Amino acid sequence: MNAIIESLESIVGPGGILTGEDVAGRSDTWPPTGGCRATAIVRPGTTEEVSRVLKVCHAQNQPVVTHGGVTGLVGGAVTAPNEIVLSLERMNRMEPIDQINRTVTVDAGVPLQKVQEAAEQANLLFPLDLGARGSATIGGNISTNAGGNGVIRYGMMRDQLLGLEAVLADGTIISSMNNVIKNNTGYDLKQLFAGSEGTLGIITRAVLRLRPLPRSQNTAFVAIPGFTELAQFLQTMDSALGGTLSAFEVMWNDFYTLTIGDGSRHGTPLEMSHPFYVLLESAGGDAGSDGVRFENALQEAFDQSLIVDAVIAQSKQQRSDLWGIRDDVERLFESLYPPVAFDISLSIPDMDDYVRQVRELLEREWPNGKMVAFGHLGDGNIHLVIGVGSMEPETVHAVENIVYGELARRKGIISAEHGIGLAKKAFLGHSRSAEEIVLMKTIKSAMDPQNILNPGKILDMSQQEQT
Ligand code: ZN
Repeated sequence: MNAIIESLESIVGPGGILTGEDVAGRSDTWPPTGGCRATAIVRPGTTEEVSRVLKVCHAQNQPVVTHGGVTGLVGGAVTAPNEIVLSLERMNRMEPIDQINRTVTVDAGVPLQKVQEAAEQANLLFPLDLGARGSATIGGNISTNAGGNGVIRYGMMRDQLLGLEAVLADGTIISSMNNVIKNNTGYDLKQLFAGSEGTLGIITRAVLRLRPLPRSQNTAFVAIPGFTELAQFLQTMDSALGGTLSAFEVMWNDFYTLTIGDGSRHGTPLEMSHPFYVLLESAGGDAGSDGVRFENALQEAFDQSLIVDAVIAQSKQQRSDLWGIRDDVERLFESLYPPVAFDISLSIPDMDDYVRQVRELLEREWPNGKMVAFGHLGDGNIHLVIGVGSMEPETVHAVENIVYGELARRKGIISAEHGIGLAKKAFLGHSRSAEEIVLMKTIKSAMDPQNILNPGKILDMSQQEQT
């Protein structure tokens, strides 16, 4: 092992490699649950160095786990003592924004928020947004195909991707740094790496698509009398707002009452007695008429009894206060400690019944347990946070069996936006057919025949399947 570390140090220099206490002091999960157990953390500064590092690791059969901001929620960055971490933290350069093509070329280690801020300074928008924006990196966003709040309008991370550079397990550099929207020249190789969670290659750079910065933003928090009305409200707003709907965040009553209940730091924008609440937002091109259109659309919904109460943000402060309720996941996690969190997709008409059924089954098993539901309804994505008082593996597994069992019956998806990593690997078969999993393994074997890249994440490659 020391020989490998010496070889790697000769590539990245003494400052490019961490060992001992410097490794143990890092974390490989979020929230942190203890130190990183890897043999070493290698921090290359260029794509060329990543390539040389992988050549050494490939020759020695040395497993490598790639780290970005380590804000993933499914254990995709967890390392074993025999593994080496390849961190992209020193690869954080960003080229000037190309105003005409509306693109920016960045290193994989650039934090998401830096890209958002640079785009805004150029009067453009990088629309991917999520709570971990300050630490999460672009490379991590791509490798996990991150989602977040703007997906309803702009799509997920893979939809912001025009070009990509990645290094394969054997050190081969694949440069697909395309910067145009249309490129129909055979297989779309960059998309192979999006969502592959570090198992097919190491993403080193990307060309990102930017959008015009919206000139108006309108935000409302509304109360909904029932699920039928909720689904209809989404349809009504989507069509009445003419394609400018940019967020449609739903909170079940349990989420709202827990978040703004006793000891909360939030105000109470609406009474706590309604079954559902929605935080919705539109982003448009005309500051004058967009506000009128937004209010008219809400009035139309009110007249049709789809909503029963509403607050429209009158200032930036009020907007951020309303978002503060939706984003207060910390309070949820504290109240339901220890929490088991889920990130699932299913057809909108199935959601109400699904949530009721899961709640009923959990209550039967753990009468004092708690569950809250919320999520990006417009994308068919809901988050469940469940607290049953224990994080013992058997307990978590029993909770998972309920959540995923009911999901499988409705042909739902076990991970909408967080990925598979280690946490959901055992349940991949709930959302992917046996044939799909075989094809995934075939691709993995072709690109990483020795299974050195993030081994054991997403898929288990048996010895036989590797050959
Ligand atoms: Zn989410």
